[in-house]
Amino acid sequence: MHMEMIIVNKKRIAACLLTASMTVSLLTGCKKDTVPSETSSETTVAPSVSITETTETTPESSAFVTYTAQEYKDAGVNELNSVPVLMYHRIYGMTNAETEYTGGNVDKDGYNRTSEAFEADLRRYYEQGYRMMRLADFVSGYIDVPFGYSPLILTFDDGIRDVVLQGWNDDGTPVFDPTCAIGILEKIKAEYPDYNVTATFFVNSQLFENGEDNDKEIMKWMVDNGYDIGNHTKDHVKLGSCDAGEIEKQVGYMYKKLDEIIPGQYVNIIALPFGSPEVMGPDKPQYDKIFAGTYEGFEYTSEAALLCAWTRSYSPFVRDYDNKCIRRIRGYDNGGKDWDIEMNFEQLNNGKRYISDGDPNTIVFPSSDNSSGDWLKNTYGHQVITYG
Ligand SMILES: [Zn+2]
Repeated sequence: MHMEMIIVNKKRIAACLLTASMTVSLLTGCKKDTVPSETSSETTVAPSVSITETTETTPESSAFVTYTAQEYKDAGVNELNSVPVLMYHRIYGMTNAETEYTGGNVDKDGYNRTSEAFEADLRRYYEQGYRMMRLADFVSGYIDVPFGYSPLILTFDDGIRDVVLQGWNDDGTPVFDPTCAIGILEKIKAEYPDYNVTATFFVNSQLFENGEDNDKEIMKWMVDNGYDIGNHTKDHVKLGSCDAGEIEKQVGYMYKKLDEIIPGQYVNIIALPFGSPEVMGPDKPQYDKIFAGTYEGFEYTSEAALLCAWTRSYSPFVRDYDNKCIRRIRGYDNGGKDWDIEMNFEQLNNGKRYISDGDPNTIVFPSSDNSSGDWLKNTYGHQVITYG
């Protein structure tokens, strides 16, 4: 069915002036050695739109605002394209000039970043039209960013130098070192109210290393102030080398601990230490324990697992997306090579990025992007709208 106009359920939001080429995203594989291969196509005829009703469409998805196919095209709306999930580790209170490595890296491999470089990263993502969203919402297929903008997800592993406590205010709120990750995030939050600053922190048994009593209070503050906390195993082990019992202990201990501190308020998501195992094959049934098990009487489940991978994540709506191996971009600088931030965002900004229609209950994309008929796979009950 083709129509000139289309009705969606949100108030009209002024389209931002982003443009993006019409591309087909045909990424394959979930393995580290696979380099994404992609092709592009151009549309020359006047675009039209098509709505596919799903039986699960929520009642709110009817209504009153209209976008034309041309408006989708002009904004480059494409919700089958890819999403950057950034993986950061420690943030050190240093200028870039104070490190001997490239562009704000604090170590040889670029796992740790200076506060100067991290703050500049955040400003650059904002200026390029990215807006933050919660990882937990992404895993649920609920992507809520304004029309014409792209989702950005921040994650931090290990807890070290992410949340550094300096003391407590009289009103009981924490005072953070302004150069640690959360210190900078709070600064950016105040400066850019429309950035939706949020991040998910993956911790081990030592939490944030401010002393357990302090960390418990900090974690309560964090979940009340827009941040999420997830599982990075008890001892930061390679789960790919563990038997089923050890996996259950490593994963279950951490969920149990989180549940004691912030009951029901942590995310059931695990960041795999060292990205291991990268592939969960049927020949390794013990890996199922990453996703469900019992530790000391405490039953846990994981909705998703994050790799230490090198590039952007698939949209949760496409065939090759796998919540058991969500890829992340390492937050480092390597002169635009080897999948550093610059290389990844150059690709994203040249036609590979997810660009939202502003409505989390619809999936909108150029019809040519699903010409195979099987690239769109998971609709999460959303209404599907194609144009072109
Ligand atoms: Zn780690």
